[in-house]
Amino acid sequence: MHDMLGWFYRGLTGGRVTTRYPQREERLPEGFRGRPVVHPERLDPEGSWEEYERACLPGAIRVSEKTLTLDLGRCICCGLCASVPGGAFTMEPDFELAVSGRGDLVTVVHRD
Ligand code: SF4
Repeated sequence: MHDMLGWFYRGLTGGRVTTRYPQREERLPEGFRGRPVVHPERLDPEGSWEEYERACLPGAIRVSEKTLTLDLGRCICCGLCASVPGGAFTMEPDFELAVSGRGDLVTVVHRD
C-alpha cells in the first residue's frame, strides 16, 4: 500500500514525462538503427540473392527462384542485411511501423 501511495504521489508531482509526439517530430536517440528497407534496383537480377537470406537470422528475408520477400513482422532490426555488399538493404531511421494489416509488413521483390 505504501508503494502505491508513492507511485500516486510521483504521478501528481512529476509533471509531464512524455513527449508531444506526434504533434511534434520525435528526436531519435543517437545510434538508433531503424528498420530495413530493400532497394530492388540494387538487386542484381542475374545474381544470387541467397546471401540476404543467410544474413537474416530470424528469417525475415526469404528468397525463392523468382522473389525476395522482406517481412518486417519477423524482423528484429539487427541491421545485418544492410552489411551485405551491394547496398540492396539499408537501415532507415523510421520507428513508425504500425500497419492496419499483417500483409502491409511484407515487401515482395520479383525478379524481372
Ligand atoms: S534487419 Fe536483421 S532481422 Fe531485419 S531483415 Fe535485416 S537481417 Fe533480417
